[in-house]
Amino acid sequence: MLSDWLQKHTPRLVTPQCHLCKLDKQPDDHHPRWCGSCLKLFELVPRCQRCGLKTVTAVEQCGECLANPPPWHRLYCVGDYTFPTAGYIQQMKYADKFWFARDLSTLLASRIEEPASLVTSVPLHWRRYFHRGFNQSQLLARYTAQDLKLEHAVLFKRIRSTASQQRLTKSARKSNLKGAFAMKNTSFSAMDYSHVAIIDDVVTTGSTVYQLCQLLLEVGVKRIDIYCICRTPEPSG
Ligand SMILES: [Zn+2]
Ligand SMILES: [Zn+2]
Repeated sequence: MLSDWLQKHTPRLVTPQCHLCKLDKQPDDHHPRWCGSCLKLFELVPRCQRCGLKTVTAVEQCGECLANPPPWHRLYCVGDYTFPTAGYIQQMKYADKFWFARDLSTLLASRIEEPASLVTSVPLHWRRYFHRGFNQSQLLARYTAQDLKLEHAVLFKRIRSTASQQRLTKSARKSNLKGAFAMKNTSFSAMDYSHVAIIDDVVTTGSTVYQLCQLLLEVGVKRIDIYCICRTPEPSG
């Protein structure tokens, strides 16, 4: 019978659950995914505005940035590579939950104080793209640009595949990535976009975005900001 079928297939009206702690959301929890107590996990902590690493109090530039200024102006992030952001990133990348990019981008966009005029992303090598089916940084860039009402463009291409960066030291990462990227569109005009933001899902040593900054500086971009979901210090040793 149609009525039986409808009863079986119509979703029941249940209290929505928080995606993180799986507890029922309260009536005053307005976020579409997370409850009020889990949202607190995403609260801002003091960081250096330039490199994004944690500091005791919020500063424009930490001692390390003053001594060795990175090629970008400002780095915005959602949090460290810990619970809950790390789990979201891993599920987005390795469990194909690409729609998580939407929620993470909204959080990220809410933190940008001086938006760039154009948002771009770290490219994946085509082989990895083929394997995963999407580029998580490009998705994050598209959604963040949508939220901030900015332009979004794919500016870079990976011209050679590189070994995984995970176990490499900072200097090994740099040489691993040398010559790995190029501008995709040679007619890109920095005249139209003097302020560009590069999005990556996780920034650790910054070697990848460092290489991409060099390409933008070479074509005359004046100011570059980095937007990422997780900013994490490189492992010591
Ligand atoms: Zn929760
Ligand atoms: Zn710093």
